[in-house]
Amino acid sequence: MSVESLRADIVEIGRRMYARGYTASNDGNISVRVDSARLLMTPKSVCKGFMTPDMMCITDLEGRKLQGDRDPSSEMLMHLEVYRQRPDVQAVVHAHPPTATGFAVAGIPLDRAVLAEVLTTLGSIPLAEYATPSTAELPEAVGKYIKAHDGMLLANHGALTVGGDLYSAYYKMETIEHFAKISLVARMLGRENLISREEVKRLQELRGTYGIKAPAPICADETLDDVSCQTVQAPQGDGARLIPDVIGGAARVEKTGDDAEIRLTYRELSALIEDAIRNLR
Ligand SMILES: [Zn+2]
Repeated sequence: MSVESLRADIVEIGRRMYARGYTASNDGNISVRVDSARLLMTPKSVCKGFMTPDMMCITDLEGRKLQGDRDPSSEMLMHLEVYRQRPDVQAVVHAHPPTATGFAVAGIPLDRAVLAEVLTTLGSIPLAEYATPSTAELPEAVGKYIKAHDGMLLANHGALTVGGDLYSAYYKMETIEHFAKISLVARMLGRENLISREEVKRLQELRGTYGIKAPAPICADETLDDVSCQTVQAPQGDGARLIPDVIGGAARVEKTGDDAEIRLTYRELSALIEDAIRNLR
């Protein structure tokens, strides 16, 4: 692809991000590999909704500016870290889409098995630890998850997506924000039905059928600290493909008095049953 068409694609994606409210003011940044040694990147301090092709910077893989009137993005270090760790990644998009960023502020990763298409494409969307923007802390936080994930939330900051080209990185940002909106509605309604672990396995096998290139396999939820795979919260189904789950993680009392109804999450109920069985022995 010519540098000219890559410049035009960055302008268009910046326009879409701003139009969708994924960025305000000068937020966000976009970059793409031009060849094996050079990156094309949005400049510092411009609104992504009103860029022109000539504004972009060309840098080397260490971030030294090779071409352009403006300085490269203040989040360049985060982009460089992604390209360093992921030779397969051609483009990186960073934005602050409000619903996904709300989850990032609440400290809630988008890692529950709730949407089949998200599981097949992105897998889980982890939450990278808080880091001061534009410092070396941010690439470090991102670096922990980027090997196994194409998209992640950045605690109290925003979201990051990567892809095999500019549009695929951008569409993953759309998917994350869409997923966050759906999750928020389900949580407001008071419950999420989770896709069972067995069904997650089946969805993972579809990746091959559809030729979806995921950077890592989906793991079961016992390995929550494992960053080499995509960890999703998917309970054992024992035949059922959807498992009702009450939001909040804690038992909730619906009524008081002798008729009090206590709701438990699937995990809490399993723990209680396991406990009871242990006591019987
Ligand atoms: Zn940012």
